[in-house]
This record gives sequence, C-alpha cells and structure tokens, in this order.
Amino acid sequence: MTRVAILDRDGTIIDVLRDEETGAITVAFHPDHIRLLPGAVEGMSALARAGFVLAIATNQPAPAKGQFSAEAVRRTNDALVERLSKQGIAIATVEACMHHPTGGAGGDPSLVRACDCRKPKAGMLEAIVARLGADRSRSWMLGDSSGDVQAGKAAGLKAGLVFATNRCELCPLRAGPTGLDPRLRPDAHGATLAELATAVTGSLAAALH
Ligand SMILES: [Mg+2]
Ligand SMILES: [Zn+2]
Repeated sequence: MTRVAILDRDGTIIDVLRDEETGAITVAFHPDHIRLLPGAVEGMSALARAGFVLAIATNQPAPAKGQFSAEAVRRTNDALVERLSKQGIAIATVEACMHHPTGGAGGDPSLVRACDCRKPKAGMLEAIVARLGADRSRSWMLGDSSGDVQAGKAAGLKAGLVFATNRCELCPLRAGPTGLDPRLRPDAHGATLAELATAVTGSLAAALH
C-alpha cells in the first residue's frame, strides 16, 4: 500500500518573506518569491528513495483575509511543483486551505468560515490519504508548526517536526519538541527537512527489526 509523506509548505519546503525594514513576515504569493529552504530538496529526495509518495498540505488564508488572491496561491503552488520537478522530485498532489474563520477586510466572503480543512484539523490530510489510497500507519505529516503535528495525529498518521532552534522565539515550540504536551509531541524531529527525513527513514528501518 502507498506510503505518503505529506509536507507543509511554508517554513518546511520554502522560506517565508521578511520585510527588511518593518520586520513583517508574509508567505510567498508569486513564483518569484519561492526560496527553497536548506535541506528541503535533499530531504524530499531521501523520502522518495525510501518509498514515500510526496504530497503538500498548506494553510493559505490570505484570500479569505483579503491579502492576495486565490489565483496567486495556485500560481505559486504550481510554480513550486514545477521547480521541484526540475530537481527530480515528484509531488503527487497539493491541498491548500484558503479558508479563515474570521477573514479580513477585502477578503473573499465565500472563504470566510470555520472549515474542516485548515490545520490543525485533518481535512486536507484525509483528502490526500483517500486520493492516494495511502496506508495511514506507514504515512507521515511533516511540518514546522504544532498545527502540523496535531493535524497529522488527528488523521492517524505519524508526525514529524522541522524545528530550527534559531527561530520562533514567541511560538509554543520554543522550548524544543521534547517535553511538549503529548498531543503536540512529534514522532521525529530535525533542524531541517533533510535531518527530519533521516530521522523518519531511520525509524522505518528500526521498525523492521
Ligand atoms: Mg509552516
Ligand atoms: Zn479550509
């Protein structure tokens, strides 16, 4: 049965955008914004070699918040898949949740609602598992936030955390991935996607013995 590794996008595969002057952080919304994170290509290649089908599940609430269009999200995701394909990495499917529970000025009202797909809910992961006919017990959700870990666990998958120790001074993961509430504790972690992939594939090897 298919074993899928579902990857978060921002902070896991590609970097966020930082405005040098204001310090404001946004996510990529144009193909020119795509900056692959160190270890991302290497990590995805290692997962594919270990037999994982790769997919992406990303929260993109900006269209609901009026920050940029759904078309901009789709164009950016398509460009990322294309860019990865040129590096020999096949992404089987992409799910993007463009909803937001409260939205924002100028947002598309049809996207403003409490949906079942926005992580930490499991909807996007469930859709991917069903589409690919994946075996949950051998599949993983890999991301850089506690919402990714929660979504993975809610879908009955294993959860891996990319945890860069030099970031996120305000987030609930700042103390590191160990010692967290069990609901937030990942099954594997690494400072980059490459390190996380090594931990994931190592745990597969260990499970065979
Ligand atoms: Mg992320
Ligand atoms: Zn949604």
